[in-house]
Amino acid sequence: MSNTSSTPAWVLFLDKPEKICLNGNMNSSDIRRRFLEFFKSRGHAIVPSSSLVPNDPTTLFTSAGMQPMVPYLLGKKHPSGLRIVNSQRCFRSQDIEEVGDNRHDTFFEMLGNWSFGDYFKKEQLAWMFEFLTKELGLDPYKLYVTVFCGNEIIPRDAESMILWKDLFKSVGIEAKDVEDSEAKGMQGGRIFYYGEKKNWWSREGSPKDMSVGEPGGPDSEMFYEFSDVVHNPTYGPYCHVNCDCGRYMEIGNNVFMEYIKNVDGSFSQLPAKNVDFGGGLERMVAATRNDPDIFNTDLSRPLIEFIEKTAEKKYEGADARSMRIIVDHVKAATMLIADGVLPSNKTQGYILRRLIRRAVRFGRILGIQEHFMEQISKRVSSLYRDVYPELPQKTDHIAMVLRDEETKFSATISRGLKEIEKLTELDGTSAFRLYESYGFPFELTEEIARERGQQIAYGEFKKAFEKHQEISRAGTEKKFGGHGLLLDTGELKAANEEELNTVTRLHTATHLLQAALRKVLGDEVRQMGSDITAERTRFDFSFERKVTKEELEQIEHIVNEVVQRDYTVEAKKMPYEEAIKTGALYVFSAKGGSASGGPKKYPEEVNVYSVYDLKSGEVFSREFCGGPHVKRTGEIGHFRIIKEESSSAGVRRIRGVVEN
Ligand SMILES: [Zn+2]
Ligand SMILES: [Zn+2]
Repeated sequence: MSNTSSTPAWVLFLDKPEKICLNGNMNSSDIRRRFLEFFKSRGHAIVPSSSLVPNDPTTLFTSAGMQPMVPYLLGKKHPSGLRIVNSQRCFRSQDIEEVGDNRHDTFFEMLGNWSFGDYFKKEQLAWMFEFLTKELGLDPYKLYVTVFCGNEIIPRDAESMILWKDLFKSVGIEAKDVEDSEAKGMQGGRIFYYGEKKNWWSREGSPKDMSVGEPGGPDSEMFYEFSDVVHNPTYGPYCHVNCDCGRYMEIGNNVFMEYIKNVDGSFSQLPAKNVDFGGGLERMVAATRNDPDIFNTDLSRPLIEFIEKTAEKKYEGADARSMRIIVDHVKAATMLIADGVLPSNKTQGYILRRLIRRAVRFGRILGIQEHFMEQISKRVSSLYRDVYPELPQKTDHIAMVLRDEETKFSATISRGLKEIEKLTELDGTSAFRLYESYGFPFELTEEIARERGQQIAYGEFKKAFEKHQEISRAGTEKKFGGHGLLLDTGELKAANEEELNTVTRLHTATHLLQAALRKVLGDEVRQMGSDITAERTRFDFSFERKVTKEELEQIEHIVNEVVQRDYTVEAKKMPYEEAIKTGALYVFSAKGGSASGGPKKYPEEVNVYSVYDLKSGEVFSREFCGGPHVKRTGEIGHFRIIKEESSSAGVRRIRGVVEN
């Protein structure tokens, strides 16, 4: 997989004649081209988009335009100079579940410009204002901005606030700056102060989480107001620019890398300050159309129309959600396959598989029986051929991969459909059984029930689901038991022996990880949650601060030591009280025994898994658990931590993978 596209795509489409109809809307190509040309004429070099799959093994996907720029933001010399502009294709797998409303997608293009120690806030904000109001013709009255409010160590970004005031003034707008809009509403303001959660950027999060020597800085976000969208009070009593109701949409973020952290926790100004701007292309198109639905832009609308025709349904209500999911997922799948990813049970391939399966499943919900992804994918290729000229050449390969995976998954779904025909009454229990045996999504069973004039309460399904987990926890479940590990979300069930095998290895690795964490960080480390997929393990634990790089290396090393020594893994069933006495770790839950937290609810008889050295008898790990586990730690393979981050207050999150 190559990291950068070798075709100079930009050259090709920059030479194209103007397509803008002055009375109508600009399309995505117009906006993309205008952005690149705007910055090119201000001394920026246009660079091509990097691949969606970065060379960096610690990151699965390119999820922002800045990602390939990080080395240059940290001081490396960019071969094209100090001023760079591009449009980067991005993929965010963490947003998969959020797709379905009018503004979330997993695949998108991000327009970006960078200054590596060259110009700073004054130029950047003025150019942005000019680009949005003059080039895109956005009504300045519909623009709102945010700036960093400052904290005990970093001052408020007053400079940006004053610059914005002057810019708005230049078009006759008196821009008021206001505090606490989250709690008090807009208050007639146009410039809003937000804290480090919203308006601070560093690779390691908030200023206090940053390591010594790490750069960071405030950012200033820009929002477009869709005045026809009425605030929904379920999101809070007052509307504000960061409200989730959809009235305000973020169309870009200017990051000002300005500070570096000192040994004593204070911050100094960086000698060479950087600008990093990123803005979603689809969102900018939506703003110029004054239509908050990004799926109505020319980058998605033709795909929606194709699905409408195929499904013989309209783009509205619950069907609109299904159509958006299909459009986004097929688009993302097409781009990932184009960048060399193939469906598999690991890493990028697993995410691709999930996208395809979700698309099939929502196709079924819409009543589409025949294969449809290939045809949507071909339309994606033609929609994007200007920007990614390599796409059309890959169309056949992409179609073949999609067809293959669609066929495989359709077979499972069809078996479930046969089963459902035999059932006269559909309820939560049967929905769960269909889900458990055929990977049949709840939504689909619910839909079929509705067609028959029946109703299934999601609560019942959930109850059946939880009951199953309870049984698993008691250790009486055979194959897919334990931890409800694959049952937490619809798609994560192990589909075959290979996936099951990987999950099992990851599961035992997770036990080792917890034990290693406690050895390195102390006994205050307790499991707060865990989620294992065929791709990775995710482990949440109580701990107050960021885990340092050195500590992470040490933890990884300890786990791999135990793997090397090939310790024995053994299960024992015993009464709950007795298990507690062995010192076995249990899942800690605030909802458990007492208000201050305690074991979550366990049945009277539990399973305890121990990992120990057969020769010395020394126990490395002992936990309440339903399994499944490997028999010996040597089967796990090499364990690697891929990410450490904050999960919530006082809770850290680690993601890890196992490699053969
Ligand atoms: Zn709102
Ligand atoms: Zn376990």
